[in-house]
Amino acid sequence: MADFEIPELKEYPVIPTIQEGVMAHSKPFVAKEEFQQALGFPGKLVDNWQQVAIDKMGELSGKYRSLAVFLDSCVKCGACTDKCHYYLGTSDPKNMPVARQDLYRKVYRRYYTFAGKYFPKLVGATDLTKEVLDDWYSYFHQCSQCRRCSVFCPYGIDTAEISMAAREVMDCIGVGQKYCNEIIAKVYKIGNNLGLPEPALADTLEGLEEDIEDDTGVKVRLPLDEKGAEVLLVTPSADFFAEPHVDGLMGYAKVFHESGISWTLSSHASEAANFGMFIGSYENMRKVSLRIREAALDLGVKRIIFGECGHAWRVAYSFLNTLAGPFDFLDPKYPVPQHIMEFTYDLIQRQAITLDKSANDDMVLTFHDSCNVARASRMGPMPGGQFILPREVIKASCNHFYDMPQDTIHDATFCCGGGGGLLTDDLMEIRVKGALPRMEALKHVVENYGVTHMAAICAICKSQFTKVLPYYGFKMDSIVSVHQLVSNAIVLGNKQ
Ligand code: SF4
Ligand code: SF4
Repeated sequence: MADFEIPELKEYPVIPTIQEGVMAHSKPFVAKEEFQQALGFPGKLVDNWQQVAIDKMGELSGKYRSLAVFLDSCVKCGACTDKCHYYLGTSDPKNMPVARQDLYRKVYRRYYTFAGKYFPKLVGATDLTKEVLDDWYSYFHQCSQCRRCSVFCPYGIDTAEISMAAREVMDCIGVGQKYCNEIIAKVYKIGNNLGLPEPALADTLEGLEEDIEDDTGVKVRLPLDEKGAEVLLVTPSADFFAEPHVDGLMGYAKVFHESGISWTLSSHASEAANFGMFIGSYENMRKVSLRIREAALDLGVKRIIFGECGHAWRVAYSFLNTLAGPFDFLDPKYPVPQHIMEFTYDLIQRQAITLDKSANDDMVLTFHDSCNVARASRMGPMPGGQFILPREVIKASCNHFYDMPQDTIHDATFCCGGGGGLLTDDLMEIRVKGALPRMEALKHVVENYGVTHMAAICAICKSQFTKVLPYYGFKMDSIVSVHQLVSNAIVLGNKQ
């Protein structure tokens, strides 16, 4: 099944003994010239790459104070060493968060600290050589920017920010990653990660309307580019066709239908994902975000709601207003932006929709907290809403729900293994190995509570689990969308 060793699922998680360099070979394909240039980066490695990279490092630590603080404040306490799923799954010590940071930190020290300039050996400072660059390319693409390590670091050092900076430096010298950069280029050209043009999108939505009518006998619309709608729904393009994502999209449509609130998708902003974050480029993140503003203005909507996508929600929640605001043309009664989970949860609280839990009686559910939602955003009016709301929506839609062990959920959640721009076949080994801690937690609830399905609210998590679950002996369709459960349970026509 695989040309690499698949980790064994143990009864209790075991911290592995280190094996130096076992993942040094893992590197994603390099972006082609045309995709580099579409993003404003050099097409290939520039001649004076060392100097360009060093200058860029100085610019980034000057611009982002958090980065400089993270680089200067690590005390090597070791608290983060066993917290990364990629270390737990691979046993390569460079996948320990502190070691990953040090790949960048030792170069930063060499050029930007007094001790590193004059006594490099004493402080572990290193020149930026081709070998160092190779290590960067390998190990900064073995970090899903999940931020789990930062929760356990007494100084809150966020390795994700260092990985983002490293990737931006590499892009600026012409060594970008194919998967992310090709996708961002597609968003600029066509509007979404999949390169799905407007006629194909319209056709897909029409097909889904027919499917819902065949299934329920009710005409539920999935409108596209409808001017004057109240809500613009921005959702990951995976929702338009892939399983189990599309079942979630049908769930959103049914919820809007029952709420009586008009909504529309946009062909211009037909993508919630924003891979600008994965490559650490605020400039590209801004360009992608502006498409949402343009669509909202053009369609004259009053609210913007995001579908089930983890990193899209992080970008939206944390950055949308600064990158693409002000959104003073929207209805001030609602937060900008809102998550579909907030919308559905509110309707459930107000009893504005009816859910028949028994429709999901063939499943025993658990819930996977997605990293970017759990550790980098909030949801709803209460602290911890990002943990509470999805669980409340699931519990309102089904009769059987069990959480995975406490140290693997909420803000201690383990990454699916495919986040942060790693969801590509050329990185399958690290994706499978990095999924180990989540698979162990899933095994626990399968064996103890008879769990049959795991729900998630992130397009990347859903795609990643569909691929990696079979490596660990689980069925690929045991991952479901939260709004798929809502879709099964919602009673249509009840509120009209
Ligand atoms: S951010 Fe996540 S993937 Fe990256 S080093 Fe920390 S725990 Fe590992
Ligand atoms: S937990 Fe924080 S301070 Fe300790 S080694 Fe890790 S990054 Fe450094």
